[in-house]
Amino acid sequence: MSKHIVILGAGYGGLLTALTVREYLSKADAQVTVVNQYPTHQIITELHRLAAGSIAEKAIAIPLEKLFKGKDIDLKIAKVDSFSVDNKEVKLSGGFTLTYDALVVGLGSKTAYFGIPGLEEYSFVLKSVADAVKIHKHIEDRIREYAKTKSEADATILIGGGGLTGVELVGEIADKLPELARSYGVDPKEVKLLLVEAGPKILPVLPDHLIERATASLEARGVQFLTGLPVTNVEGNVIDLKDGQKIITNTFVWTGGVQGNPLVGESGLEVNRGRATVNEYLQSTSHKDVFVAGDSAVFFGPDGRPYPPTAQIAWQMGELIGYNLYAYLENKSFKEFTPVNSGTLASLGRKDAVATIGANSTPLKGLPASLMKDASNVRYLSHIKAIFNLVY
Ligand code: NAD
Repeated sequence: MSKHIVILGAGYGGLLTALTVREYLSKADAQVTVVNQYPTHQIITELHRLAAGSIAEKAIAIPLEKLFKGKDIDLKIAKVDSFSVDNKEVKLSGGFTLTYDALVVGLGSKTAYFGIPGLEEYSFVLKSVADAVKIHKHIEDRIREYAKTKSEADATILIGGGGLTGVELVGEIADKLPELARSYGVDPKEVKLLLVEAGPKILPVLPDHLIERATASLEARGVQFLTGLPVTNVEGNVIDLKDGQKIITNTFVWTGGVQGNPLVGESGLEVNRGRATVNEYLQSTSHKDVFVAGDSAVFFGPDGRPYPPTAQIAWQMGELIGYNLYAYLENKSFKEFTPVNSGTLASLGRKDAVATIGANSTPLKGLPASLMKDASNVRYLSHIKAIFNLVY
């Protein structure tokens, strides 16, 4: 009898699982249902570009129907309200319930607020296409307003967090801001673009010489860095920093970190700090009929440290799970997860980037790194057969 595979989430992990499993299991072998809250697969590695207005929404929101065409995948656009791995049951918004023979959890991560008062209430985040569109519109509205009122809070943009998300966002905004300001008759020099980072340096995953390079490149385009200064409190448009200074801004984007999706923690799966623990086959350590992909899972490398929650890891996890679902349902042997680290690429706006590439962490900066970043996006789109999206 045909088995039922349910895949929660169509981000990098969920999408690649669905596409891969169909290479091994036909419709007669297994029914595959994918649940996603949006009708699109979102290229979240490019969200900063949408937030700054340098690309269109369509460039990074690919209709799932198109990606699944001809693949006999049932697509349900709904939010997962909860799931119970002991009851083998998934509850969706609208009161619908799914049962399964094998479950894949690829529900991503959530923004971490670390209990900082007012932070969640008064900040924007950059986790989805809708968030990016909101930020873009908001920045434009504030600049338009500033042209009329000259209120400094409208001409101040603050990014909280100097990890890859915050730095890529600030670089993209720095490139677009002059043009935007001038279009409303505002002198770009009147607009402040700040980034606050709790740690002593931005981009701590990169070597110091690349951090210096990134800092100089962004400062030359007007970005001011406030490092070693955690955000401690937010109330309305007033952001308090640890040294007592207050920043008044009507645009505060929080990119201070991610945490496990609470649905995973509440599902009955064994978790480590809110992310599901998995074995070398990416199977839950507590429930053999559940596989976990992407940021919802925590997978420890040979050095005993967890792999970072990145798109490249989620993509590779999805592909392995696609195969291991077949192995699980057909009693074949599993394959082990041995991810390839292609490196870290941080774009610094339209024309600059820094990167460490490959297993040897070869440093790269400037145009070659920028091209590499664009190439990695094209490579991904080609892999999921979505090159059509480049000519939307
Ligand atoms: P992150 O956790 O990597 O960085 C968050 C930053 O916010 C840290 O530097 C932290 O010190 C800072 N911070 C935390 N609390 C703070 C406070 N109170 N005040 C000020 N600063 C504070 O988060 P991220 O940048 O969103 O990245 C999340 C994951 O996604 C990472 O694994 C990253 O590698 C990945 N990512 C990768 C890329 C890429 O490869 N280009 C892009 C974006 C994200």
